Amino acid sequence: MGKNRGKFPDFKVLILLFSLLAGGNLLILRSSKIFPVFWFFAPLSGRTVVVDPGHGGIDGGAYHSDGTLEKNINLSVAFKLKSVLEKNGAKVVLTRAKDESLDYRNNKSKSRHKRDLIARAEIINELNPDIYLSLHVNAEKNSPATRGPMVFYHTSSPESRRLAELIQASLEEAYNSAGQSIRKRNPHANSTLFLLCNARPPGVIIELGFMTNADDRRLLKNHDFQNKLANAIVMALREYF
Ligand SMILES: [Zn+2]
Repeated sequence: MGKNRGKFPDFKVLILLFSLLAGGNLLILRSSKIFPVFWFFAPLSGRTVVVDPGHGGIDGGAYHSDGTLEKNINLSVAFKLKSVLEKNGAKVVLTRAKDESLDYRNNKSKSRHKRDLIARAEIINELNPDIYLSLHVNAEKNSPATRGPMVFYHTSSPESRRLAELIQASLEEAYNSAGQSIRKRNPHANSTLFLLCNARPPGVIIELGFMTNADDRRLLKNHDFQNKLANAIVMALREYF
């Protein structure tokens, strides 16, 4: 034992040296000019986001007699959102990438609608993303003047609340910048909506606008406006992370 003393440095000393070197490298990287530049191009790098376009297939969601279906708007905005998120460095998974209902994925309820919602919650929980965003379009038949975005979060999740506040404000700004005067709202706390209660990561349900309002309906079908909404959501996420 005494023979080898001095020849081999103590194992603990090696670990300490290695940690110091590794820590130092990290500091150099963070303080270098490369890191901010990298962040500028990929501010959501390393983040995983599940985007859930509501409804699909047999379930059209909210609809209007002119043939507008919520499910198509949700999917179209989801594709745009995925594209902007990926440009910002995020990893994105869609719960559906085509016009289909997700009830076929499990047999856990007699209700087709419930099976569809269970499937969405299960996809989110299995992937365990940083956040999830469920996209929808609102409807209020007795109040055609009601319009604008509305974001819902679960009452017991402070992270989801912060996310909801940022997205609500950013979407209102998108409407305003398109020349639409939108009444300011606070996001809605909720403790009954199935997805909010059963999906475990922080997340929100985003009602992009109202199917029952003529101006919202026209805008929600417009691809430029859909891009505006997708960009507004990503701006909010850049602030959130
Ligand atoms: Zn919906």
